[in-house]
Amino acid sequence: MASLRPSILNPLFAAATTLPGIGPRLSVLVEKVAGTKVVDLLWHLPSGLTDRRFTPKVGDAPAGKIATLTVEVLAHAQPPPGNRRVPYKITCGDATGKLTLVFFHGDQDYLERMLPVGDTRMISGKVEVFDGKRQMTHPDHIVPVAQAHQVLRVEPIYPLTEGLSPKILEKAIAAALAKAPEMPEWQDAPYRARQNWPAWIDALRTAHAPQNETDLALLTPARSRLAYDELLSNQLALALMRLKRRKARGRSLQGDGSLRKKVEAALPYKLTGAQQRTLAEIDTDMRSEDRMLRLLQGDVGSGKTVVALMAMLAAVESGTQAALMVPTEILAQQHAETLQPLAAVAGVKIALISGRVKGAARAALLEAVRSGDVQIVIGTHALFQKDIEFADLGLAVIDEQHRFGVHQRLELADKGRGTDVLVMTATPIPRTLALTAYGDMDVSRLDEKPPGRKPVDTRLISLDRLDEMVDAVSRAVAKGGKVYWVCPLVEESETIDLAAAEERFRTLQYVLGDKVTLVHGKMKPAAKDAAMEAFQMPGGPQVLVATTVIEVGVDVPDATIMIVEHAERFGLAQLHQLRGRVGRGGREGTCLLLYSSPLTETAKARLKIMRDTEDGFVIAEEDLRLRGGGEVLGTRQSGLPVFRIADITVHGDLLATARDDAKLILSLDADLETERGQALRTLLYLFEQDDAIRTLRSG
Ligand code: ADP
Ligand code: MG
Repeated sequence: MASLRPSILNPLFAAATTLPGIGPRLSVLVEKVAGTKVVDLLWHLPSGLTDRRFTPKVGDAPAGKIATLTVEVLAHAQPPPGNRRVPYKITCGDATGKLTLVFFHGDQDYLERMLPVGDTRMISGKVEVFDGKRQMTHPDHIVPVAQAHQVLRVEPIYPLTEGLSPKILEKAIAAALAKAPEMPEWQDAPYRARQNWPAWIDALRTAHAPQNETDLALLTPARSRLAYDELLSNQLALALMRLKRRKARGRSLQGDGSLRKKVEAALPYKLTGAQQRTLAEIDTDMRSEDRMLRLLQGDVGSGKTVVALMAMLAAVESGTQAALMVPTEILAQQHAETLQPLAAVAGVKIALISGRVKGAARAALLEAVRSGDVQIVIGTHALFQKDIEFADLGLAVIDEQHRFGVHQRLELADKGRGTDVLVMTATPIPRTLALTAYGDMDVSRLDEKPPGRKPVDTRLISLDRLDEMVDAVSRAVAKGGKVYWVCPLVEESETIDLAAAEERFRTLQYVLGDKVTLVHGKMKPAAKDAAMEAFQMPGGPQVLVATTVIEVGVDVPDATIMIVEHAERFGLAQLHQLRGRVGRGGREGTCLLLYSSPLTETAKARLKIMRDTEDGFVIAEEDLRLRGGGEVLGTRQSGLPVFRIADITVHGDLLATARDDAKLILSLDADLETERGQALRTLLYLFEQDDAIRTLRSG
């Protein structure tokens, strides 16, 4: 469908290469810091400033300060031929004193053109004192006095990347700003007036032209307004999706409890209060005519699987099928193995759809799914494949959804009519962030662990004590325990990661022989699965060295020790997930977080949280507080939205307001047809929420 983006936005959605100075080579660098479009440069806000309005006489210019000086060029001194280490020097001065301009690898032609002897120039840069004499190395600006206005001002400093010159970036951003139009006001006028916020274009210009340090704060009226715009577009988009879902016909799935009763009787335990409560919430959704879209949040080991099973049984009781989608083959298999015997008690057939089943066997399996002979299907994203058809898919459960894109959520559900959707995640998400990512879902929390879990003994240990760790591993192995050893994650280079893990693998292998196995990101999925599987087997290897995060959710009940090297490099949520892998089988678990000293204060505080609590939600909130929203949970991989302007840790209140605002807007003007509604459409397009706009009748 063609985009109906208002034409007023067209200049902003042109390629960044249309801006002066941004050729194909630089566009790569610009893309790295900001993005590919003009609008991306608008969102690239200054992180600092340089005040060039200080204009002392040469004799008064203090060392170490940025100054703009008006000087006469007195003499050029070229370096001796062949000696490139001696700089090109130019002496200049005024009535009060002299100053040497220093250029390493200076080009004579260029410098003679820029600084002809006898002329007066305005130069700006940091004044240094060397050997008791004033100098300036590579001035930032050299202009004829007539162009003083170009220099005598406060310059914004933008976040850069190597190879991108600040001048070029600033010029491109200024050009982008010049293209920014006046926008129709999408904010509520009384609210904006109360907040004292400028109009959009003024806010943008102000944010890009800080005059002093306080202008750089995140809560200035200009920045707050821009942040609010972004948050409102996010919340409005989610609210629209939610509205659409409500309008889409769901179906009432009413289980009679007959199958559930049998399975519950066969469970070796009783459901916890939290499990019963969330199940009741799910039942209510499934029974209703509306389509369910519910997120079940629960720590590793909180017992989500059995909740999923019970929900799926309700779907089967009401004559439909259910599907459980998980991120990896091995998890699919594990779930199938746990659930099959339970389902069998109630006479329910579960099938595992795996890439390993091929040919006639696969054809038969797919036929059984198509005919409805199989009632519950478990698999990876392979469940999306075209050849998989359901007789009648009533419920789709998606486990560990962070591995799947947010948009994939509904794709599985599209295999049925009005299919209910239950998304399960073990990643504890702070409430504020949950709002940004799942504003379109209802949320249940499994906040109580099954009884009998022993706390994991967590210790912070300096990497210097590696030898002791190896001894501890040997002792645990001798006692029959299983140990995970996770090696550092260095994002820049998988090769370095691998080298570190291989080295660790060899160290351990030297002591423990074939009791050690290695799994890394460069292995083929099948080989990885095989190694994980071997580790899981009784009598298999007892130490698993891994480069990347161990497959989330894989259950090795007798794993007792988790060692994480360079724990300070991991997100807390990741560490929490890793720690959740041990101490599951009733045995005591130990988690050793190895760090390299010295730690920064923040890193220290973060690791201490890990030591002091096992509550995933507390950890997530603290992580957010300490690191800021952009970084929490390794946001980029997590499928959570990344905000360009807003910072959840600072603008959390604005987010809550934006949510209420979005609700109110849609309750009054569900199709965004009023004047403000039209302006809000522009806002949605501005923040590229095109999907949300498509939900509108006349979108
Ligand atoms: P999650 O998927 O949330 O990480 P699981 O569903 O794998 O957790 O459950 C972890 C373990 O707890 C499993 O071994 C499961 O059998 C067990 N379990 C689940 N619910 C209960 C309960 N109510 N009482 C005791 N054990 C339970
Ligand atoms: Mg699970």
